[in-house]
Amino acid sequence: MTKFNSLEDHATRRFRLAGKAYLESGDPFFAPIDSLRQEAAASGRRFTSFANYDYLGLSTHPAVKSAAAAALDTFGVGALASRLVGGQRSLHHILEDDIAKFIGAESAVTLVSGYLANVTTISHLLGSRDALFIDELSHNSIVSGAKSAVAETIMFRHNDFDHLDFLLRERRDRYRNVMIVVEGLYSMDGDIADLPRLVEIKEQHNAWLMIDEAHSLGVLGEEGRGLCEHCGVDPKRVDLMVGTLSKALASCGGFIAGKSAVIDWMRYTLPGFVYSVGLSPVISAAAAAALRLMQEEHWRIERLRANAELFVTLAHEAGLDTGPAIGRGVVPILFADSLETLDASRHLMENGFYVPPIIQIGVPKDQPRLRFFISASHTQEEIKAVIDLLAKRPSIAAAVQAVEAVSAT
Ligand code: PMP
Repeated sequence: MTKFNSLEDHATRRFRLAGKAYLESGDPFFAPIDSLRQEAAASGRRFTSFANYDYLGLSTHPAVKSAAAAALDTFGVGALASRLVGGQRSLHHILEDDIAKFIGAESAVTLVSGYLANVTTISHLLGSRDALFIDELSHNSIVSGAKSAVAETIMFRHNDFDHLDFLLRERRDRYRNVMIVVEGLYSMDGDIADLPRLVEIKEQHNAWLMIDEAHSLGVLGEEGRGLCEHCGVDPKRVDLMVGTLSKALASCGGFIAGKSAVIDWMRYTLPGFVYSVGLSPVISAAAAAALRLMQEEHWRIERLRANAELFVTLAHEAGLDTGPAIGRGVVPILFADSLETLDASRHLMENGFYVPPIIQIGVPKDQPRLRFFISASHTQEEIKAVIDLLAKRPSIAAAVQAVEAVSAT
């Protein structure tokens, strides 16, 4: 007879399988952090976080806080309904127009999360005669969108556009519409797609192209406009740009940007927009203020770049493995195994730096890492100190010495 479990039993068993015992030996996740460089409430110690994607250091900027406070005072907390049927605030338009203008799109629409923007857009756009081509290292929100779409999903090898081209040559004729999805800056590896090549491929095969600019907005390009600016590609050659307000814009929410005809249609039909509440006026105002500051205080983009380049240079000098990272906002340090990664994370935590281990979740099982989000608000001393701590960990120093001894012979 089939044994039925209560939901509680089911959850307890699944959590145990997922490694609950390991967490009980000292949980590095959900640290009680109030913000960068503040007291950790539980331990009473001060530490610096490299685990928050406040790339430009805007989340506590006085102008962002006062914009949020003014919106709270005027409009209250919530948007109170779906905008389609409940009406919208001028703040929604202001933010959407500013985003579209900034990234070079005709129009943009905001949603309550970046995750939702990917899931709902991907599943909405493609039908049963269509196909989706996604990078094998796509973020979970892209994969979830693909899973909930009725279209067929085909994965190509990470950033391997010969592979994508091969797959499209082989299969393009089977489908009506085809959409390729890539990320602007990959959130676990800090690397990027060869966009000029990708745009050629997509045009050659009459495919649509969507870029998830979650980690590239405010990070890539001279002005922080994202992957197109970084690669010198006209953004009009990209069909859709999806992004979040939660990273460089220091707020919360997502957006979709593209041609007006596409975005206008989405405003009336996109399930994650039509059947979900509008963005809170408070966080709309905060994100709009952050976007303005990103342009007015250009030094933040420059400082972020200098910090990330310093981090990568020092890491390489110390013999640390940053994988394929290009040296912008996200830089991983790869370790041989999970134990070494955990050990490194704990070592940093003991010495005032919060960088939780990335093991299994979001990365291949054999590629554990510490993933560093670099921010314009980090100091060069902090970057030097954190690399120094990693380089001088006894196990790593021993490994580096062994490699040096071999290469000297
Ligand atoms: N896309 C990518 C590449 C991400 O890394 C994330 C979140 N880290 C999201 C989308 C979802 O964004 P949000 O957290 O704003 O919902």
